[in-house]
Amino acid sequence: MNCPKCHGALHEMEIEGVKVDFCSPCKGIWFDKDEMAFMAELPADLPEADVQQSAVATDFDCPCCKNVKLQSMKFVKAEDLLIDRCPACQGIWLDQGELPKVEKIAAHIGDAKSKILFVSKQLGKRGYQILGVQA
Ligand SMILES: [Zn+2]
Ligand SMILES: [Zn+2]
Repeated sequence: MNCPKCHGALHEMEIEGVKVDFCSPCKGIWFDKDEMAFMAELPADLPEADVQQSAVATDFDCPCCKNVKLQSMKFVKAEDLLIDRCPACQGIWLDQGELPKVEKIAAHIGDAKSKILFVSKQLGKRGYQILGVQA
């Protein structure tokens, strides 16, 4: 596989049991479908599926698919971080420095969820039930 940005050869690296493809010259990382969700402990690669509505075509070739261009889209609506994603194989490309941003956003999403759980548990103890939240 070749880097979509600098066309150098990607090197496979195992991180926490996931094989990701890493570009040494430009320090970008390619995640196959579901790998980023696994790494960042997210329910899905894109925590907000409707960010795909804002996707714009790029000139970068998907490293996995033939003749498919990556699309640029926001990772989550509230943040400026743009990621590149293949509309065919649904892999995700992160440029250098984007992974820490993804992790930060993912941790924030995780915190928000656990706060909801915390609040719902507190309410549950007082006899209130919040629908749709598993305590
Ligand atoms: Zn590269
Ligand atoms: Zn692809």
